[in-house]
Amino acid sequence: MVSGPECSKARLTKCDGRFAYSHSKTYNNNQKTKYTNRILDNKSVFNISIWKVGGVAQLVRAHGSYPCCRGFKSPPRYHFSSSKFMTHLSKQEIVKLLTSKDNDTLYKRAYEIKKQNVGTKVYFRGLIEFSNICSKNCFYCGLRRDNKKLNRYEISDEEVLGAAKLAWESKYGSIVLQSGEICRPKFSSRIMELLKKIKSATNNELGITLSCGEQSEETYRQWFAAGAHRYLLRIETSNKELYYKIHPKDKEHSFESRIDALKSLKKLGFQVGSGIMVGLPFQTIENIADDLVFLRDIDCDMVGLGPYVEHSNTPLYKERANLMPKQERFDLALKCIAILRIMMKDINIAAATALQAIDEEGREKALLAGANIIMPNLTPTKYRSDYLLYEDKPCINEGALQCKGCLENRVKKYGETIGYGEWGDSKHFLKRK
Ligand code: SAH
Ligand code: SF4
Repeated sequence: MVSGPECSKARLTKCDGRFAYSHSKTYNNNQKTKYTNRILDNKSVFNISIWKVGGVAQLVRAHGSYPCCRGFKSPPRYHFSSSKFMTHLSKQEIVKLLTSKDNDTLYKRAYEIKKQNVGTKVYFRGLIEFSNICSKNCFYCGLRRDNKKLNRYEISDEEVLGAAKLAWESKYGSIVLQSGEICRPKFSSRIMELLKKIKSATNNELGITLSCGEQSEETYRQWFAAGAHRYLLRIETSNKELYYKIHPKDKEHSFESRIDALKSLKKLGFQVGSGIMVGLPFQTIENIADDLVFLRDIDCDMVGLGPYVEHSNTPLYKERANLMPKQERFDLALKCIAILRIMMKDINIAAATALQAIDEEGREKALLAGANIIMPNLTPTKYRSDYLLYEDKPCINEGALQCKGCLENRVKKYGETIGYGEWGDSKHFLKRK
């Protein structure tokens, strides 16, 4: 692969280093400069149009096939959406931002972009953690199969429906149904029936996001048909080597399968959310920069990312002495949110609950760094202390309405409004359709 000099030959001011840019034609059009380049990577050749606006080169259109290095063989439009809503940052630029000490300037820039592109309305997704039973053994998570110190629960349909109705009556707009990962026909048909019941009990007005791990494409299809329209599946880390340091290396925890699951969800028409944990043991700043590039490359519609928080009943706990301090993990997660907002101006970004495990006002601070989604907990209180993905999880002793009142005040304090009764779908997704 050629890089560096070729980039300047094509008069590109930005290059992410993965491509070589060659022979450019340049002409002016409405004070914008358009470069038509052939991009050569080590596998493919295709044409691409790049507009240089205000000194920043932005990808507009790619023609031809784009065999993404991570196996996403979807059409190019999945990779480069309209440049108006993307800012091209190279990996090197991302690393620079992640290591800069000037957090405030970064947050301010991200907040401006958020204001202009998705506004200052925060959308609520009532979180219902309906089961902590999990067949997986992720090394970082308190719900892992081998953690025997946990009371396992599954909330009844009636209780889930009660929580969903509470969300609807409270004008939350949407709920998230989250659980451990269970891949059994009984589980998938239960969820399918539950989705239908929730839809009919709420006059089809409640938006539904699912977060139930990797499932077969057929299961995803059934859940989509039954009314779920968004899905959250974090990649956790886009680095395969690191992936297998935080997961067992076996069929149940395959990096490729996680990627395939994301592809299936996208193909089926879900709004797809992904994300990472920040501050994992063994994780480098370069890894995190690659993760942000990965989230852009898969053209996700939503992002949920937060700091890694250790849990004493997990294998990764033994690495706690090698972690960066919690406050640094928090700052880094906030920076990732801000950088993603700059890179993908119109996606939905969640202010993850794990932020509040480190900083009391963590989720609100994330709003000021570019996030626009908050997930108030609607899990019946008696189950909350058993849904401990990590330690210091906030709000485990509060009731649903307490959470609502508390969050409402916090959001208002930070000068934002709440999009009551609105789905607040990802604008990025809606524009692509
Ligand atoms: N089982 C599903 C959804 C529930 S877990 C799945 O794994 O996709 C939801 C998220 O919790 C995970 O994606 C992971 O990023 C996060 N999580 C788990 N353990 C964590 C920890 N120790 N610190 C921070 N986040 C954690
Ligand atoms: Fe299970 Fe999800 Fe926790 Fe992994 S992260 S152990 S799949 S609940």
